[in-house]
Amino acid sequence: MRAIAVTPGTKDSLRLIEDAPEPPESEGQVLVEALAVGVCGTDREIIAADYGDAPPGEDLLILGHESLGRVMEDPTGTFQRGDLVAGIVRHPDPVPCLNCAVGEWDMCRNGEYTECGIKERHGFARERWRVEPDFAVRLDPALAEVGMLLEPTSVVTKAWEHIEAVGRRAHWDPQTVLVTGAGPIGLLAALLATQRGLTTHILDRTDAGPKPELASRLGATYHTGQVKDLDFEPDIVVECTGAPPVVVQVIDKVGRDGVVCLTGVSSAGERVGVDAGALNRAVVLENNVVFGSVNANRRHWSAAAGALDKADRAWLGDLITRRVPVDGYAEAYAPRDGDIKVVLGF
Ligand code: BGC
Repeated sequence: MRAIAVTPGTKDSLRLIEDAPEPPESEGQVLVEALAVGVCGTDREIIAADYGDAPPGEDLLILGHESLGRVMEDPTGTFQRGDLVAGIVRHPDPVPCLNCAVGEWDMCRNGEYTECGIKERHGFARERWRVEPDFAVRLDPALAEVGMLLEPTSVVTKAWEHIEAVGRRAHWDPQTVLVTGAGPIGLLAALLATQRGLTTHILDRTDAGPKPELASRLGATYHTGQVKDLDFEPDIVVECTGAPPVVVQVIDKVGRDGVVCLTGVSSAGERVGVDAGALNRAVVLENNVVFGSVNANRRHWSAAAGALDKADRAWLGDLITRRVPVDGYAEAYAPRDGDIKVVLGF
C-alpha cells in the first residue's frame, strides 16, 4: 500500500513509501479507501522538521490530516459501504483531562492529545486508513470532489462558535467582519461570515490570481494593503495570516466591544515594535477580546459538514487550485504562486 511519510525531526525526509503496512485494526473498525488529502502549511512545517511527532516507538509519521475517503467496511453498522467520510484529526489525551473527558479535545488542557498526520498518530495520506466510528464524519455524496475541505472548515467553525460565545458576554449585534488572509482558512472563515449574514471584508497581500474573484462571489469586499489604512472598524476580526505585523494591527483596528480571533500559527523569531501601553489602553477602554483558536471537536465537524452542504459547490471547487496524483506528491507539497488549496489524489 502506498503512503506519504516523513521522519519527524529530519528536514526534507518527505517520501512515497510503496510497501506501507495495511492499517492495523487497532486504529479503528471502519476501513476507508482514501480519495484525497488536502495539503496545508502544517504539513510543510512537518516536512521542514519544525513540527510533528511519530507515533511512540516509530520513526515514521504518515502525513495527511485533511482527509476524504469512502467506507470499505464497517462491522459496527454505523456506516454503509461507499459512504463518503472524513476522519477527525485530534484524539483525546489518555488521562483524560477535564475537557477531553467531555469530548472537547480541541480544548485539551494537558497537551497530551494526539493528532492524525501531525502528532504521534499516523495520518490519512495512504491508500487505506482505519478510524473508530466516533472519529469519522459522514459527508453528503455531492461533496465527493471537495469533501477534503471539511477539516479546515471544522477549524473555522470552531473559531466562529467561540467568537459568538464571547459576543454573548453582553448585548451584541455585530455587522462587519474583517478576515485577514485569503488562503483556505481565510476564505472558509469568510464563507461562514457570509452564511451568518455579516458584511464581510477580506484583506490579503496580493490581488493577483483567483482570490479577489472568490471573495466577490461570496459577496465580500476584497482589500490589499495595510490593515491600519482600512476606512472602517470591524466588529469582528478573524486573523488567518499569523503574520506578526497584521496581528498587531488587527488588535488596534477592531471596533468597540470587538472580538479578534487569531487562527494563524506564526513562526517564532519575527519581532515587531509595539506600543504595548497604547495597545493595552485601546483593548481595555474598548472592551475588546483577543483570543486564539485551534482545532475542532466533533460538534464543530458536524456543523462544518452542514456549512459545506449549504455552500456553492462550484465556489468550493475553485478553492482547489491544484489536484496532484499521488505520484507527483513532491509537487503537491511544494508551494506555488496562485495556490489556494492543493489536493493530493489517491
Ligand atoms: C490542523 C489542526 C491542528 C493544528 C495544530 C492544523 O493544521 O488543522 O487540526 O490542531 O494544525 O497541530
